[in-house]
Amino acid sequence: MALFASKHIYKQRLSTCKSCEHFQKMALVCKSCGCFMPAKAKIANLRCPEDKWTEVYGTEQDEPETITLVADTKKTETREEKNSRLLKMANELRTQADRLELEARGIKR
Ligand code: SF4
Repeated sequence: MALFASKHIYKQRLSTCKSCEHFQKMALVCKSCGCFMPAKAKIANLRCPEDKWTEVYGTEQDEPETITLVADTKKTETREEKNSRLLKMANELRTQADRLELEARGIKR
């Protein structure tokens, strides 16, 4: 499965966010999940925490996920689960940051 969303899906996601009440336009951050949307929207298998992104994502073998940087007080999570979730999120964001840096260096030339 592709790691990154297509340009079309990326644009659709950001367009949805821009008209959403949870979107902070100045910081480009979603108040519901706390994520920086230009990066999160690029990762194919991530979900909108409010299920507002309508495109199909994930596959039958690879379920879509919702990541959030905001603590969910309703959910009881063990320390191991939290550490695992945060490490997974950090890896996803690191991969995206590396890709964006390579893209930016390519644009500079
Ligand atoms: S991810 Fe979902 S809830 Fe967050 S700003 Fe975008 S559309 Fe709104």
